[in-house]
Amino acid sequence: MLEDNELRDATRKIALLNAVKHDGRAQEGAVIGKILGERSDLRSKAKEVSTLVSTVVREVNNLSYEEQKRFVEEKWPEELVREKVEEEKHLPPLPSVDKYKQVITRFSPNPDCVLHLGSARAIVLCYEYAQLYQGKFILRFEDTDPKIKRPVLEFYERIREDLAWLGCRPNEEYIQSDRISIYYEYAEKLLKAGNAYVCTCQPELFRERTLAKQPCDCRGLPVKENMLRWKRMLQGEYSEGEAVVRVKTDLCHPNPAVRDWPALRVIDVSKFPHPRVGTKYHVWPLYNLACGVDDHLLGITHIIRGKEHLTNQVRQEYMYKHLGWKYPEAIHYGRLKITGAYLSKSKIVQGIKEGLFKDWDDPRLATFAALRRRGITPEAIKRMIIDVGPKTQDVVLSWENLYAYNRKILDPVAERYFFVQDPIELTVDKIPKVFNVKLAMHPARPEGKGREYTIKPEKGDGAAKFWVSKKDIDTSKIGNTIRLMELFNMRIKNASIYSAEASFASESYEQAKQMKAQLIHWIPVGEDMPCQVVMQDATVVEGIAESLCKRLKPNAIVQFERYGFVRIDETGEKLAAYYAHK
Ligand SMILES: [Zn+2]
Repeated sequence: MLEDNELRDATRKIALLNAVKHDGRAQEGAVIGKILGERSDLRSKAKEVSTLVSTVVREVNNLSYEEQKRFVEEKWPEELVREKVEEEKHLPPLPSVDKYKQVITRFSPNPDCVLHLGSARAIVLCYEYAQLYQGKFILRFEDTDPKIKRPVLEFYERIREDLAWLGCRPNEEYIQSDRISIYYEYAEKLLKAGNAYVCTCQPELFRERTLAKQPCDCRGLPVKENMLRWKRMLQGEYSEGEAVVRVKTDLCHPNPAVRDWPALRVIDVSKFPHPRVGTKYHVWPLYNLACGVDDHLLGITHIIRGKEHLTNQVRQEYMYKHLGWKYPEAIHYGRLKITGAYLSKSKIVQGIKEGLFKDWDDPRLATFAALRRRGITPEAIKRMIIDVGPKTQDVVLSWENLYAYNRKILDPVAERYFFVQDPIELTVDKIPKVFNVKLAMHPARPEGKGREYTIKPEKGDGAAKFWVSKKDIDTSKIGNTIRLMELFNMRIKNASIYSAEASFASESYEQAKQMKAQLIHWIPVGEDMPCQVVMQDATVVEGIAESLCKRLKPNAIVQFERYGFVRIDETGEKLAAYYAHK
């Protein structure tokens, strides 16, 4: 036990502040998160901290809101202001952390597709919880179905890359197709103990019997006979569909899908070779056997996954009982739907095959590869998932939600540039003097480095030429006063789809404001470079950008003013960018 008065006082302060912030109820997870965030030396003692926090939070929550508030106002009035600013949510605590030496979580994808936003919740929660408790995060490839959910070699590596990009690097990695002999070993244990049997019934017949809560003829066979059948299975004497190992359950379980579930089956690997181990095995474990055995052997303490897995837990618990194991803590979160996002693996794979999508990072997809290319930051994804947390209710989010997180991260740092979509040439005459203008790289840092231009009117008519967007100046604007941002105001004389003409009107921004003049962006002719932007729907917008953009490096994320945030994809003579969002 940590018996450190100073720590106890600090915990009490954090708990009180948290309680005042949350209508009188301090939240354990938030308090633990804050302490471990401030005191990295305590991370190895996360268990004790969590016990201490439990006690303190209980005490604090026993006080009335008025009492809590009075404490804070008297002792730390300055914190009341500060706490309002810090509005970051923390994860709620995991259950029963005390029971384990170390928290171990796992993310276990089937490498039959690249990862997409639908996997973000499992990854981020498992990783963040492992971090929070100084535990271990395991990546386990569940690749034991060479037939229907066929793994593909390139996806193993792509998945590793996606995790690294998300900042969720695993501490350990396992691949189930390397562990087949382990699954055989446990299948044999179950068979030898009479807790499993080799069923050779027609699937139809088996289904009929289980629906009637009746055993099939194989269930009562002596262990010796089952071991013989098992040997034959391994020797390849059964063809696909002729034999399956079943784990015994209660035949009266209310859910027929739980009753004597299949654990291993025969696959014709001459037709469906495994991409890693080829034709080496023709008996393959099914999901519940492989996953259940691994969760135990790898010491997983907390399984964090979608509630669609609840039935699998019920199935696996029978096997755990047979083997004398204790089932890990299981947290089942609700469905996370993102409206408008393509989250069906099979549709993604099919779309790529048919050429509907260009590649895994096609901007129409919600794959991590696509999000990365578009300039969606991993921090935005993480932040969104942590805010949603592991709650059991279903959650519906939209692209806009994700963009809002991303914008919050990019807006304070992204450099600003002008990009003119569908440019037309604008000639402004009667400019009375030379204008030296400095456009800020960021509105919050007007004093810093800027984009500097000298607008030098020609002798005679005092004209200068600019690129502006066709959208901003058309025939309907003739006679209007428009302001070239940060430069001057002008009156439109003429406009067509190729060019426009205007006369200098005045310099002051105040005047533009009074007249409610439209503010548009511009690029001096000669200071431009071609630029194309790939939009979310994969269409390409052509335009020109400030030639200063030449200095940008691929992967830079900038804001094209009045247009949106983009990620620079290619530089050179022509700039190529991917559109992120407004
Ligand atoms: Zn049978």
